[in-house]
Amino acid sequence: MTIQDNLSKVRGRIHAACLAAGRPIDAVQLLAVSKTQPPAAIRAAVDAGQSDFGENYLQDALEKILAFPQATWHFIGGIQSNKAKEIATHFDYVHSLSSLRVARRLNTYRPQHSGKLKVFLQVNLAAEASKGGASRNELTDLVGETAQLPQLDLQGLMAIPPASLKGAALNDYFAQLVDLQVGLESIAGARLSQSSFGMSQDLEAAILAGSTWVRIGTAIFGARRTQAAPNMPATQNTEETKESSRYG
Ligand SMILES: *Cc1c(COP(=O)(O)O)cnc(C)c1O
Repeated sequence: MTIQDNLSKVRGRIHAACLAAGRPIDAVQLLAVSKTQPPAAIRAAVDAGQSDFGENYLQDALEKILAFPQATWHFIGGIQSNKAKEIATHFDYVHSLSSLRVARRLNTYRPQHSGKLKVFLQVNLAAEASKGGASRNELTDLVGETAQLPQLDLQGLMAIPPASLKGAALNDYFAQLVDLQVGLESIAGARLSQSSFGMSQDLEAAILAGSTWVRIGTAIFGARRTQAAPNMPATQNTEETKESSRYG
């Protein structure tokens, strides 16, 4: 299977999930997660019409952003606050915002001429120690404050479900996230119209619940190189390590 074949398969799954959920087929956008993938893989996806790409590691991402400036770039990894300036400068979206300190830094460093940085707040509903994200309690303050920052445009919530959830339990989990997001709109003082729930293995359940973005890596690009580049600080590996344990 080529990247082009994989992309059509994933688009077919999204299409079918939208129909099954009674949602318009353009209600869900596909974020191709290209972390650890070489520029040639991105080239293949761009040639197949893919416009949005997600990256977890800043250094790894910067050369790809330079090579494909016409693409829309999403940062989806753990954020060290000393990286906030570069992230705010080079990306169009951040899906993994979970602290006020980082929110303020992204706001400060977002260049005026780039327009607002679109952000999702990552939530860790199950309070899993192995994952990033704000708790349900932290979220209230975070939403209120983030919504006030003039250079940030709050989209909604992002989450990675616990690995153990399947079937009805997974559907319940996504439904809880959607309820939580709707409940936060009064605190944000605005409609939160986007959700970033759903990955390669659970996109159907996420779309059924109402997600508007799905973040798909392996189903498009195949297995990832598990090792990070040697110049990558150990901390940047955490998300990848954590999350590979989810998929074994
Ligand atoms: C890697 C990653 C993905 C993609 O996961 P797949 O299982 O390969 O589709 C999605 N979201 C986040 C936050 C990731 O780190």
